[in-house]
Amino acid sequence: MEKAVEHAIYDTGYGEKPDVSSLLRGELNPTKEMFGSKTYFITDQRGYVYIIEQMAGSFLAENDRRLKLNKTVTTVQWGDHGVIVTTKDGSKYAADYAIVTFSMGVLQDNSIEFVPGLPDWKREAISRVRMAVYTKIYLKFPSKFWDDDANIWYAGERRGYYTVWQNMEAPGLFPSGSHIILVTVVDEEARRVEAQSDQATQAEVMAVLRTMYGAGIPDPTDILVPRWEQDPFFRGSYANWGVGINDEVLHKLQAPVAGRLFFAGDGTGPHFGYLQGAFLEGARVADAIATCVRGGPCEKEYQPPRRGCTCPAAANFDIQATVDDGSCLYTSGGGSIMPFSTSFYLVIFAAFTFNCMV
Ligand SMILES: Cc1cc2nc3c(=O)[nH]c(=O)nc-3n(C[C@H](O)[C@H](O)[C@H](O)COP(=O)(O)OP(=O)(O)OC[C@H]3O[C@@H](n4cnc5c(N)ncnc54)[C@H](O)[C@@H]3O)c2cc1C
Repeated sequence: MEKAVEHAIYDTGYGEKPDVSSLLRGELNPTKEMFGSKTYFITDQRGYVYIIEQMAGSFLAENDRRLKLNKTVTTVQWGDHGVIVTTKDGSKYAADYAIVTFSMGVLQDNSIEFVPGLPDWKREAISRVRMAVYTKIYLKFPSKFWDDDANIWYAGERRGYYTVWQNMEAPGLFPSGSHIILVTVVDEEARRVEAQSDQATQAEVMAVLRTMYGAGIPDPTDILVPRWEQDPFFRGSYANWGVGINDEVLHKLQAPVAGRLFFAGDGTGPHFGYLQGAFLEGARVADAIATCVRGGPCEKEYQPPRRGCTCPAAANFDIQATVDDGSCLYTSGGGSIMPFSTSFYLVIFAAFTFNCMV
């Protein structure tokens, strides 16, 4: 029972087990604070794309020629002067700036060639984001035989083995008479299900349902098993931040390359794994590029944080030294802060041996 509860509450949220997920980022994920903890199951048949279409409609005309659909990017060539994107059909598109929003799974898969290759700091940060696999299996039956509750949990021996069920006929979801039930598997169970035939999955699901509701229940008339990890355009369902991701990794994920190639998506920001995370990250980089184009400051590249300033001279004078953007800040006994550039410091304390490493 304990395994089933933990799996239902944690694993099906993050798409992975707690032991591989970042506690810091996961538990401090600002999504719940900003948007509330209530979750909704959206059954609107217009789908996510409707939201995108409505937003795009505010700045794109009908059949706008600037919008290119069904183009597969194969190469992204970048440099100090701009970006050239090549697609599978041989078309080339040149731009001053580009925003990369492929999923982290696609970036990790190396199916898109970056010329030159992305810098090590960017590739290392990308490699740290985990791509969760979250598989919602829909089954349609000739009649409904399951509970009326919206959520039904099956506590079997094996962790995550067809544990989390949703009654799609619960109030507010599909119309009564749809006879559809949904079971969600994640992580290794999802990968296993993706690798086998739908018939094999159906047999497993029916064995569990017969344990729950008896041998007399009918077979389904239809089954839908998505395969997010096998899909070369996704390579997983959504981003999950693994153990060890900290602010520095976040900065690397968000930083542009050469001031030309910007990165956004559900894996680059603090709302990782959520649609609103992808949206907010898109807005962040669009704003950064717009600011640059309008003559404001331009984000260039990841800047490593200045490491500890070790200044023995500072210790000798009983003052605190911290490093801020290449300059040492010295706090005198009275508490006031005096900024000195390193060169100025050299002149003042030339008589002392010191080593201010930044
Ligand atoms: C089953 C499932 C359930 C989910 N449930 C929720 C939920 O309840 N709430 C929530 O907030 N989020 C949910 N998510 C997550 C949400 O869908 C993602 O966080 C969001 O879609 C990420 O958006 P994105 O733009 O960063 O990446 P994506 O949606 O992955 O978009 C990347 C785009 O890049 C395209 N692409 C990839 N490779 C190429 C190429 N070579 N050339 C051209 N185009 C390419 C892809 O086709 C895709 O359109 C769910 C996801 C899944 C799979």
